[in-house]
Amino acid sequence: MILVSACLAGIDCAWDGKDRLDPRIKAMVEKGLAVAVCPEVLGGRPIPRTRTEIMGGSGGNVLDGRAKVFDENSKDVTSEFLIGARKVLDIAKKHNIKKAILKSRSPSCGCDEIYDGSFQGRLVRGDGVTAALLKRKDILCKSI
Ligand code: SF4
Repeated sequence: MILVSACLAGIDCAWDGKDRLDPRIKAMVEKGLAVAVCPEVLGGRPIPRTRTEIMGGSGGNVLDGRAKVFDENSKDVTSEFLIGARKVLDIAKKHNIKKAILKSRSPSCGCDEIYDGSFQGRLVRGDGVTAALLKRKDILCKSI
């Protein structure tokens, strides 16, 4: 069993109320080979919602209290991201998951590359908050 971002499985949970469908991921969920999660919705963020980016670092820094997540209206939404990440980790543990395929560049799900917090479309090295927590627990994470 692997963990996947729910938006990749065709669930309309992205910030704009749409999906980010990847038919291969949807097929895995339908066959019972993958569990679909949306950390932002699990953390209490609505659908649709304002865009968010990590400011002052990456997801690992957010976990350590050294960076925060803000929305495009400068509202601090860090706590929702931390709650969502912990809920995803609980689900991963319950299913004994060792691998995750996550949506690229998301402040939650992105692996190795995220937006820089400027809302100008600039990318930096780093993980989203959930991806960072999963990696710390030795779950292999890949973004598509
Ligand atoms: S938090 Fe992850 S699963 Fe949810 S919409 Fe964003 S990228 Fe998709």
